[in-house]
Amino acid sequence: MSSAAIREELCKYARKTVSNKLVVGPGGNISAKHEGKMYLSPSGFALDEIEPEQWVEVDIESGDITDIGLRPSSEVLMHLYAYRANPNIGAIVHTHPPYCIAFTLVETELPIMFPDQAALVGKTLYVPYVLPTTDKLADAYVETVNKASTVLLGNHGLVTTGRNLREAYYRTEVVEESAKIFLIATAIREPKALTKEEFEEIASLESEAYRIQLLQKMK
Ligand SMILES: [Zn+2]
Repeated sequence: MSSAAIREELCKYARKTVSNKLVVGPGGNISAKHEGKMYLSPSGFALDEIEPEQWVEVDIESGDITDIGLRPSSEVLMHLYAYRANPNIGAIVHTHPPYCIAFTLVETELPIMFPDQAALVGKTLYVPYVLPTTDKLADAYVETVNKASTVLLGNHGLVTTGRNLREAYYRTEVVEESAKIFLIATAIREPKALTKEEFEEIASLESEAYRIQLLQKMK
């Protein structure tokens, strides 16, 4: 894949993020990695307004902006630290989905409740509130990047990673759906989560085929 193709793909998922109400206004930021660089949303743009050439190219090792570009998103450090700490990460999606934010306000762990969540996401971690756009947030977030692909940020939003943009993006959708389902069920009684055995059965090697099948369906 060329950097031009990465830029096109970023635009595609950025538009989906807005049209699926995972972020409003100029909130949220998305990046993808390509040959030692990351391509990150520019600061101050709504994600669906970004043109392919406007994604800011940043050298992952040095942190230098390597195109003429715009100012990168204020969460640039969070993205940089994550790519440096976990070389398997190919893309990062940070959003402010309403059910996820509502969920973080009750400060409980998000249980694993249904098969798509178990297979595509697995464990979701929680980082208590930290002032956004600071190195404190980047430091707190980077602690999680080798432990889980989805992290709820208290009173703030969600960060998901994946081997590629599609995976990171769909994890965002599935975690938002999970938070929504949890909150609906909680209105009636304490929700029944999958048991550890039920989760492990899906998360086991045999389920790889199931996971891939799901991702293909999601095209
Ligand atoms: Zn944010």
